[in-house]
Amino acid sequence: MTWNRIIGQNRVKNLLQKAIIDNKIPHAYCLWGQEGIGKDALAIEFACVVNCKSPIKTGNGIESCGECSSCKAANNLHHRNIHLIFPMPTGKSGDSKKDSVLEKLTEEQLEEYHEQIKLKAENPYNKIVLTNANQIRIASIRELKKKLVLTSSGEGRICVIVMRADEMTTEAANAFLKTLEEPHENVTILITTSRQDALLPTILSRCQQIRCEPLSDDDICKALQEKNNIENHVAVLISAFAQGSYTRAIDFLGESMQEMREQAIDFLRSMLRKKMYRSEVSEHIEKIVKKYDKKELELILSMLIIWMRDVINVSKTRKTDKIINIDQAEIIQKFITGYPSKEYNKSIEFLEKSVNQLRKNVASQLVLLRTVHDLRNLFLFS
Ligand SMILES: [Zn+2]
Repeated sequence: MTWNRIIGQNRVKNLLQKAIIDNKIPHAYCLWGQEGIGKDALAIEFACVVNCKSPIKTGNGIESCGECSSCKAANNLHHRNIHLIFPMPTGKSGDSKKDSVLEKLTEEQLEEYHEQIKLKAENPYNKIVLTNANQIRIASIRELKKKLVLTSSGEGRICVIVMRADEMTTEAANAFLKTLEEPHENVTILITTSRQDALLPTILSRCQQIRCEPLSDDDICKALQEKNNIENHVAVLISAFAQGSYTRAIDFLGESMQEMREQAIDFLRSMLRKKMYRSEVSEHIEKIVKKYDKKELELILSMLIIWMRDVINVSKTRKTDKIINIDQAEIIQKFITGYPSKEYNKSIEFLEKSVNQLRKNVASQLVLLRTVHDLRNLFLFS
């Protein structure tokens, strides 16, 4: 991996590189920010660079070579200097306390563990999820302590990456705090979390805290095209919903966003028919309520909101180059011609109200009927 493979986060990348170049690496970092923005990726790349045998200076930065034995091991997440800590299952019971966390796993669990590490190495945006593993337990921290004592010498820098540090048990967090309090020579601990407020203040105060910002829509859009081969107009649509998270954007890939948007526009079309709309609309509602759950219905209505924002944009600027639904430019223009000088803003208010009602668990059918009523009144009778 290189810094380039990490989406956005230029400020953090520069900060980490500067610390390496100036040889002012703190004992501990806390990389925090919402899920899916590349905190683990940043920590892993940092560990890779500080262990690289022939790092490359680049302008103001420093890159791993990607070729040396250390880089290769780091890229596979099998590096003797890089320790990963994340929630693990308890494993077989009744075994001696001496067994390591991995040795305690059943064959099946061990297989899952290796599979998850492999996926993480291939794509650091993958979240490591093991069955029945919701907490970072004290056993993992005890083991870390032993490792730090045993491997204090040798080449490179030992990097301990604690992912989802907020999932530590109280016991584990207290033990971890002790480790932080006794800084080890040539060791950097990098904790990553999306819930910084759930960490002990005493842990936080011993780390250099780095806030990782949500990604920009443009960054996500570019990543979807480059990493996932998503067509431009779909990537634009998805990034508008991803709220700054690349992994949330990836979740949407499975949702067939385009199909949902077609549903949304069909729904709008059927509700705005001048005559004979009732049976078509109720059929439509029945169909989508059957097919989609509440979360997806929220998404469909949100798609209409974004579509309406495009309507406002085009009606104001007379241009279609800055809209989200680029492939809909013609339909949007027709819509404006068909419903000129309407209060498009009002339609967004109605739709937002509907999304809120879905969140409050109001029956979907009811919410959709209400939406039809409001939008018909607005577009046909006002
Ligand atoms: Zn290297």
